[in-house]
Amino acid sequence: MSIIHTFSGNNLDRGDSIRYDEKKLEKLFESSKVKILPFYELNPLIENSETPQLGWLTKEEFSNLKFSANLSRVLFLGFDQDQSPCFTFEAKKTIEYKNIDRNLSYFDSREIATEIPQNEAGILAQAKSNLDWNRKNKYCSSCGKNMKIFRGGIMRKCLSCNLEHFPRTDPVVIMLVYKDDQCVLGQTRLRQKSGFYSCLAGFMDQGESIEEAVKREVKEESGLEIGAIKYHSSQPWPFPSSLMIGCHAQAKSEKITIDKNEMTDVKWFPKEEVALALNNKSKILNVPGPIAIAHHLIKSWVYSSV
Ligand SMILES: [Zn+2]
Repeated sequence: MSIIHTFSGNNLDRGDSIRYDEKKLEKLFESSKVKILPFYELNPLIENSETPQLGWLTKEEFSNLKFSANLSRVLFLGFDQDQSPCFTFEAKKTIEYKNIDRNLSYFDSREIATEIPQNEAGILAQAKSNLDWNRKNKYCSSCGKNMKIFRGGIMRKCLSCNLEHFPRTDPVVIMLVYKDDQCVLGQTRLRQKSGFYSCLAGFMDQGESIEEAVKREVKEESGLEIGAIKYHSSQPWPFPSSLMIGCHAQAKSEKITIDKNEMTDVKWFPKEEVALALNNKSKILNVPGPIAIAHHLIKSWVYSSV
């Protein structure tokens, strides 16, 4: 089964070949067809019409802001389906849009992601993660000197030691552990009071396969031994730049030993109770909503065989 999760479905052509030509990139930014998406504190500008959508500025609107921006600050996202070049930048302060006859304002990235069209949430994920990476990588991690942006923002190069740096994506394994008609859900300290439980999850270690990470994380958080593991789907999660790798994992044992450093509770739930929770009808259990891959891992186990 393939699912297009929130934050995936980006339909931009990321224009890999043109990124190697700095002059062509500059020309694209000067093009009359250019579309520019501002962010403020990593939250996107939104046109708040009946159906909210990303608040792309035209070249004329951008010019009227009297905001100076060039390719040292503006990142290239790719081409849309009309071949318009799309760029993004992070505004240092909220820009006033009084001269623009559209209802534009900044919205929280996570809250707006499920309100805008699917492909735009994908563009939001790409832009937010890339802006964040560029913001945090101004200096070389090897020698500490200044770095310059190349390829429209998907590479930075140290001006002193020439080391090339590339944006990171952090893989996270997230798995629904099950055995017969029961599954394992865990509660973290932050969500202790809400009756909120979710799938077990954790960052992959270096030098580890997906299957090994699933087995290790489940063992650490619950003490359970895992047998068969089945990949389900993946989800970009731009907070700041994770990739959630969703799996179903069949438990070989049943006795749970909780890692008290990470979890406040981990326990087995019967399928009937989990089904109620998916529909917000359980009195004892809350599970994540459809924005999160955990919801879909749980749902596919409840409603179809895995
Ligand atoms: Zn360096």
